[in-house]
Amino acid sequence: MPKRVLITGAAGFIGSHLCDRFLSEGFTVIGMDNLSTGSLENIEHLFGNPRFQFHHYDVTNFIHVPGELHYVLHFASPASPADYLRMPIQTLKVGALGTHKCLGLARAKGATILVASTSEVYGDPLEHPQKESYWGNVNPIGVRGVYDEAKRFMEAMTMAYHRTHGLSVRIVRIFNTYGPRMRLQDGRALPNFITQALTNQPLTVYGDGSQTRSFCYIDDLVEGIFRLLVHTDYPFPVNLGNPEEITILDMAREVLRLIPESQSEIVFKPLPEDDPKVRRPDITLARELLGWEPRVTSLEGLPKTIAYFRQKLVQHSA
Ligand code: UDP
Repeated sequence: MPKRVLITGAAGFIGSHLCDRFLSEGFTVIGMDNLSTGSLENIEHLFGNPRFQFHHYDVTNFIHVPGELHYVLHFASPASPADYLRMPIQTLKVGALGTHKCLGLARAKGATILVASTSEVYGDPLEHPQKESYWGNVNPIGVRGVYDEAKRFMEAMTMAYHRTHGLSVRIVRIFNTYGPRMRLQDGRALPNFITQALTNQPLTVYGDGSQTRSFCYIDDLVEGIFRLLVHTDYPFPVNLGNPEEITILDMAREVLRLIPESQSEIVFKPLPEDDPKVRRPDITLARELLGWEPRVTSLEGLPKTIAYFRQKLVQHSA
């Protein structure tokens, strides 16, 4: 019998790619999503697959899954700052109550759980690059705090289940990730810049654009998550991301360079509150533990992502 995995946030950007990967590895996949930020378009290609089921469900409520479960992956959450500013309470609930429900389910089933944490646990970091041992610099009552603190609670609760009940757990701290299936109107920097460039709108750089991020292609992230979950039993947080750091202004310029027909210019907008000034993962641990590092360069990943956005824009305007 195939092993069975529950993926929450299955209709989201990362969740849907995880569904693809686990199905291709021979698993039965049960996907859940309340579709608050996810889209059925991301998983519609899976609906004919007999090893795939989808439940339109809010995982902040009690989760009932009949039969065996080997793995639970908790990926449900708004993840774009634009979304969690719009849905602060839902964001806190899915990181806190949703995590609790997933942990309880994993415990009841004797399953291993992997929870999706984030580089946001480091807040506006005072240590650079960020190692897993860094405790972070988070404003608990700031507007971003709803996401950061929900994810910090997620980590605390996951470790408590590990220590108290001996639950088999994995915690991945995901740094900025990009690729096909990000939404046209996602609100994050790269999808904004690509949509803006393709529609000849100004590229909106917040602040002076000197803040940095490090962008990891989705396939690399999924590979790291799969290895951490299936090939290790390491219960503590592991950073996954691309250590190549770039300023946001340079990223906007790079998008324009790759879309030469664009008429767009770059405009500067106010910097959002508590926006981290720098971000770059130290991936020494992932290298040692998983033999993992990103393989897809931006030279390869950005054109693939742009091609996806082009195709979606054509579909949406048809
Ligand atoms: N950003 C920007 N223009 C946009 C969207 C975002 O300059 O249209 C900036 C944002 O202020 C931040 C960086 O790009 O400094 C990355 O933001 P994003 O929303 O992608 O996610 P974050 O890394 O902050 O979670």
